Amino acid sequence: MNDTVQTPADTAKARQPDHDRPYTVLAHGVAIVLLGVLAVVVPFAILSTGERPPSGGLIWDFSMGLGFGALALLALQFAMTGRLRWITHPFGADIVYLAHRYLSWGAVLLVLGHFALIYVFHQPALGVLNPLEARWELTAGRLAMGCFLGLIVTSEFRKRLHLRHEWWRALHLTLALVGMTAAVAHVLGVGNLTDTPAKRWLWLGVTAGFIGVLAYTHLLRPSMQARNPWRVVANTAEYGGVHRLELAPEGRGLHRWKPGQFAWLKVERSPYSLIEHPFTISTAPEKGPNIAFSIKPLGDHSSVLAKTPVGARAYVDGPYGAFSIDRLAEAEGFVMIAGGVGITPILSNLHALDARGDKRPIILIYGNPSWDEASFRDELSDMKSRLNLTLVHVLDEPPNDWDGETGRIDDKTLARHLPAQTRDWPHLLCGPGPMIAGVTADLGSLGVSASHIDYEIFELV
Ligand SMILES: Cc1cc2nc3c(=O)[nH]c(=O)nc-3n(C[C@H](O)[C@H](O)[C@H](O)COP(=O)(O)OP(=O)(O)OC[C@H]3O[C@@H](n4cnc5c(N)ncnc54)[C@H](O)[C@@H]3O)c2cc1C
Repeated sequence: MNDTVQTPADTAKARQPDHDRPYTVLAHGVAIVLLGVLAVVVPFAILSTGERPPSGGLIWDFSMGLGFGALALLALQFAMTGRLRWITHPFGADIVYLAHRYLSWGAVLLVLGHFALIYVFHQPALGVLNPLEARWELTAGRLAMGCFLGLIVTSEFRKRLHLRHEWWRALHLTLALVGMTAAVAHVLGVGNLTDTPAKRWLWLGVTAGFIGVLAYTHLLRPSMQARNPWRVVANTAEYGGVHRLELAPEGRGLHRWKPGQFAWLKVERSPYSLIEHPFTISTAPEKGPNIAFSIKPLGDHSSVLAKTPVGARAYVDGPYGAFSIDRLAEAEGFVMIAGGVGITPILSNLHALDARGDKRPIILIYGNPSWDEASFRDELSDMKSRLNLTLVHVLDEPPNDWDGETGRIDDKTLARHLPAQTRDWPHLLCGPGPMIAGVTADLGSLGVSASHIDYEIFELV
């Protein structure tokens, strides 16, 4: 018998979704957090070996500890934002970016603490400020501190500073690279913790680690994309000004892709360009190898992307994200709540349930300003005939003959459409930030626990 001939059973098995088992995801997540803690703690253990430099007293030693803690935490940020899938997989990219934001704040507070203690209690050690006269390693330390503060200010206040996303990204990368290089130079120049080979290896490892992650993200991954371009094969207009771009792979398609995930898209640009945008893959893996992005023209780039001509070349970096029914294999049914273009990851999950012939009950509450804004309304109504789907449209400004729900999705709308047995079902939310915040609170007051609510945020920074 020829082993390579596929029987119908083999084909069916091959099409079985590759579900993420909750305990595997949990174990993976715990392992990543432990690794992160080790990455911060191990440097301290290495630094406390060998000959101790003469102590400058408790406050001096404490200040040095803060400095090294900060450096370890900062080095970790490169790994967290380096699009390493084994790090983002258990949590989802948005949660990892959120953790990056708060850990960076923590690291910069440690840097400030390190400096403030020396400034207050050991000021002569800081020498002069003028870089032409100061010791170079102390200037390097000040430069690093300036870069790290710059990173926080430009990220927290990007919109108020009217900093365009692509400029912010280039600046972020530059400040991070210069800041980290200056910080390692500062430690090596000050030189009181480089006396053993283990300590020298530690600094070499930190430097190689962050440069390695940068090279992986900005050189190696784009070079893989360059070998696997995509071609836009259709651009279809949808309700609400959304355009659905269908892409066909010209090399290797997406690998281990799950419904509801997103990818970074570049169209008619070099794969090495820093200008790329995250969009949900709005089709299901079962309908691959072609993929589709459904783009609402909300700003300058999305407006250009929505008009992409058929035949354009594209590069796709993904998949990322965890907003997927494949995380929820045990669910008895699903509550899905979408606002506007937030329908895209929900649509992808529905397509997957449809392709798998999954008959679990789904209640979809879909809010839009008007009937004409309700993207994919025909596709959704078509899916109703095949899925066990209850579809509730909610319109802010309904047409005259509308007899459905009106206004915003609020506690009363939810109470009317979500019977008591749905409280333990997963609730998948995607839409504008204020809508997600409001609906999450309303679901809480209905008795839905936070562990049953999952949401996708369309804004990473
Ligand atoms: C995980 C995820 C999935 C998304 N899926 C979809 C989708 O399916 N359909 C859809 O229409 N939109 C989606 N978006 C939103 C989409 O990425 C933004 O609307 C788009 O990037 C805006 O770019 P712009 O230059 O046109 O708008 P601008 O007006 O320049 O930017 C508007 C806001 O979008 C964000 N943004 C801009 N550029 C980037 C960038 N390069 N990377 C990250 N964020 C950026 C910033 O917060 C910015 O303030 C998704 C976003 C995320 C994070």
